[in-house]
Amino acid sequence: LSDRLTAALQTLTRKGKLSDADIDATAREIRIALLEADVALGVVKTFIARIKERAKGAEVSQALNPAQQVIKIVNEELVGILGGETRRLNLAKTPPTVIMLAGLQGAGKTTLAGKLALWLKKQGHAPMLVACDLQRPNAVTQLQVVGERAGVVTFAPEPGNGVGDPVDVARRAIAEAKHAQHDVVVVDTAGRLGVDEELMKQAADIRDAVEPDEVLFVVDAMIGQDAVTTAEAFRDGVGFSGVVLTKLDGDARGGAALSVREVTGQPILFASNGEKLEDFDTFHPDRMASRILGMGDVLTLIEQAEQAFDQQQAEKAAEKLSSGQLTLEDFLEQMLAVRKMGPIGNLLGMLPGAGQMKDQLAQVDDKHLDKLQAIIRGMTPAEREDPKMINGSRRLRIANGSGVTVREVNDLVNRFFEARKMMAQMAGRFGFGGGGGGSK
Ligand code: GDP
Ligand code: MG
Repeated sequence: LSDRLTAALQTLTRKGKLSDADIDATAREIRIALLEADVALGVVKTFIARIKERAKGAEVSQALNPAQQVIKIVNEELVGILGGETRRLNLAKTPPTVIMLAGLQGAGKTTLAGKLALWLKKQGHAPMLVACDLQRPNAVTQLQVVGERAGVVTFAPEPGNGVGDPVDVARRAIAEAKHAQHDVVVVDTAGRLGVDEELMKQAADIRDAVEPDEVLFVVDAMIGQDAVTTAEAFRDGVGFSGVVLTKLDGDARGGAALSVREVTGQPILFASNGEKLEDFDTFHPDRMASRILGMGDVLTLIEQAEQAFDQQQAEKAAEKLSSGQLTLEDFLEQMLAVRKMGPIGNLLGMLPGAGQMKDQLAQVDDKHLDKLQAIIRGMTPAEREDPKMINGSRRLRIANGSGVTVREVNDLVNRFFEARKMMAQMAGRFGFGGGGGGSK
């Protein structure tokens, strides 16, 4: 795949606009990548359609070629769908928090119960495990073993009573947790090899008995395409508030993550990646996106290209700064760049000697920036190079053209002259622009 992509990246040369042909060519590669990652076909289709829409509206980047740009959009969209920032576990206002695990047999529920318990313990909680899988003879012992390994208490039906009632066990476990002051209860349930109604009914009954704060649908990443039907069955049969992907240490590309997320809309909270209790982490959407795309190298390349471009821009600006040749065009560019980077105050706090500019720039909110942008865009290129040439009548024209008052135009021009002076001084002081600094 990456060979094909490299070829695609080379044939698509830099152009002014993202053309439909550019987008289509890259979208084909993305489609193959997603299918190879075992994303369900229906999900691939809607996803690609959305990407195409977004790519069409995108302004062309100067740092990236069109193929890279489409891939960047795809990656951002994937990270967004997979959850953006990781969602945290919902904890109950009044303990105990009840977490119920649901999923097919072999999905990794019991193993996960131990992992969760250890993880919760490390966070300062006092978890208790509850054995509600009374279906398989060994299930209770298996949970007790992982509980012991994690160093937590396991609540299980007394042995020798024959097959117990999981709902009854669940109910008694919650009472015991309250009594023994366990603040989190993890309820392990039974699974079948395939979705069946009896299983769903039992899980739903346990759910009703324990009123969980979270029902986690545990799904084996290796089941690929089947993830969709399984997730739908559990969504309809039991309902769940979050997803845990297991067996990510295998070679599955993780398409199940995208499918489950797209189809059910529920967030993925955790990832399991091995048989040991420590092989467990909160879910990282960015890592999963990169795994699904299978284009780690390309993504790195994109990042590097953007960084290199930013650096070029910064160097150019620094050069101009130190020679006192800052133009309004640069001023605008800098403002837009700063805006892209986030809160201006934070950023300036990191600059040495920028204290005086801080107050001034702190007032620059988005609306204000839009205005400044409109004013500067209303000037001729020559005026942007040398604002000194803007006389009274031109100021009036610019003000009318950009829907502001003459005073606002004056303000901007004056502020610009001030900033230019200040920056030239700063540049001299800190020696921006290499050899130029300080010589006179
Ligand atoms: P359950 O039926 O849903 O309770 O699943 P189990 O917890 O019993 O796990 C089924 C099998 O998968 C066991 O052999 C586990 O050791 C294994 N397993 C569970 N989670 C993982 C994982 O993240 N990676 C790997 N490689 N194996 C896992
Ligand atoms: Mg189990």
